[in-house]
Amino acid sequence: MTEQNRSTVVGFIGLGNMGRPMALRLVRAGYEVRAYDLVQEAREALRAAGAVAAESAAHAATGAKVVILMLPNSSVVRDVVTDAEFMQALDADALVVDMSSGEPAVTRELAAHLADRGIRMIDAPVSGGVSGAKNGTLTIMAAGTAEEVEVARPLLEVLGKVFAVGPVGSGHALKAFNNLLSATHLWATGEVMAAGERFGLDPDVMLSVFNASSGRSGSTEAKWPRFVRSGSFDSGFSLQLMIKDMRIAMDLCAKEGVPARLGQRALEVWEQAGAELDPGADHTEIARWLAKDHASASPERDQPGPKEPSARSMTTTNDAPTRTDAIRQAFEADGIAWDDGWEAVCRLDPEFAEAFRRMRAVPWTGTALSPAFKALVELAVNAAATHLNVAEILPSLRRALDLGAEPRAILEVLELSATVGIHAMNIGVPLLVEVLEERGRTGPEPLNAEQLQLKERFIRERGYWHEFWDNMLELDPEMFRAYVDFSTVPWRTGVLTPAEKELIYISYDIAATHLYVPGTKLHIRNALNHGATTAQILEVMEIASLLGVQGVTATMPLLVQELRDRGRWPKDKSR
Ligand code: NAD
Repeated sequence: MTEQNRSTVVGFIGLGNMGRPMALRLVRAGYEVRAYDLVQEAREALRAAGAVAAESAAHAATGAKVVILMLPNSSVVRDVVTDAEFMQALDADALVVDMSSGEPAVTRELAAHLADRGIRMIDAPVSGGVSGAKNGTLTIMAAGTAEEVEVARPLLEVLGKVFAVGPVGSGHALKAFNNLLSATHLWATGEVMAAGERFGLDPDVMLSVFNASSGRSGSTEAKWPRFVRSGSFDSGFSLQLMIKDMRIAMDLCAKEGVPARLGQRALEVWEQAGAELDPGADHTEIARWLAKDHASASPERDQPGPKEPSARSMTTTNDAPTRTDAIRQAFEADGIAWDDGWEAVCRLDPEFAEAFRRMRAVPWTGTALSPAFKALVELAVNAAATHLNVAEILPSLRRALDLGAEPRAILEVLELSATVGIHAMNIGVPLLVEVLEERGRTGPEPLNAEQLQLKERFIRERGYWHEFWDNMLELDPEMFRAYVDFSTVPWRTGVLTPAEKELIYISYDIAATHLYVPGTKLHIRNALNHGATTAQILEVMEIASLLGVQGVTATMPLLVQELRDRGRWPKDKSR
């Protein structure tokens, strides 16, 4: 133990499969570790090993020179990092090291957020699994300035081998790409192992030969022998976390314009497995799932040994319904209501249903907005008078409540949407003035004292002014006064932040059924002025973009009913 270690306080937040053994190594190396996890038992385990069991993330950060995060995803990291108490607890010269696997864009945003307060942050995600965490043999992808990486290096070297990979965010990008490769290898290995066994090859001989040949990979060298052939399926890395990383990688491919076809297909297969397996399944379970898939795809062929019926083949008789079942499960896992309409889409064009789910997942798996606020955005789009899709209002309302939105916030969203009617005046009064000018109107008249007072009040309570209010204030001050009263209610009594209110205005102004260009631009400006981020504005627009599919969801159940009435569709849903 060095003197430097003894005097260095390290905050460690997230003591799960990876975090716990990593924090233990730091304790054993002599660091004064303040460890925190939501789970008390995890904190107690660290206390027993000599760490301080912190009561909160802020407590773990207090007095720490380095604060390590080992959390499930960027959304959780964001919640921890942007917490006011945590921010306040950080030392001015502290270094935050996010070792979780996360989204590069969020990491950069959080690093900028901390930099505004003079605090440094790097990402340093890892590869090597739970055994690497225990043995200090992780591969660490450290990303930040050279100076920042050097500050963290002595501590990171207790955990594994450090690679400096580029500016902040680069580690998370590289880690996601690594896992896309790893997941693809594991999938490919599952296929060839199944085919080889059917051919009559001994699986252990196959692995020995692959590992001495060009077909080897981390899957053939480590995962298959240790977790699949042994039958343990307990690597400690969950299937859902792997899917998260694959989505990040595919998102990066899309943003960089690289058509990653194999990656896309691999993601679809993993997502299908994710929808069918337990939520907590280990990622190596993909091998067992694939084996069942291969069994159900088998022609009438005598398999040696006992036959285990495939979960999928029990409910289905041919390929098409199998795909429908998988899509339905994936929809249900994502919280998308399933009905006869989607069932029919799957029979006629399953690719459309899958593509819609992937598009919907973009905002709903994004991390810029909270899930409850996303549901409020969806409600605003559906309930605004310009769209008013009554059939979609109840599902949106239920989703908002399920995700924790308060009734007061729901009413506020409706109050904000209720201002959409004023666009009749925004557009109408300037047009009236144009026509009056064609007929010789001069003006505008100077505003009288009362009108000036109204204008000041609007600016005070709404925080902006736009020229489209000028004509209305001049020609119809009575309506203007009443509108100021009406539109400022949520600004006086509401619970949403100013930025959130502006995001709600954007949501229905930009919806395809309204497309109110001047309002959208104005509210984008206002939202940014109130501290909203580009990523949040994009997520709002992404949710509004999903409106187009309502033509399908409204029509397909009617088509099914019509076809049933004509005897061209099965009477009941059983296949
Ligand atoms: P895990 O789910 O086992 O652990 C996450 C821990 O974070 C849990 O103990 C949970 O209670 C805690 N947590 C969640 N929210 C919290 C909060 N707000 N405050 C404090 N604690 C909170 O996950 P893991 O397998 O340890 O993985 C952690 C990260 O490392 C993930 O990003 C994962 O993708 C990545 N990773 C995992 C492996 C692996 O083999 N397991 C390998 C490389 C990278």
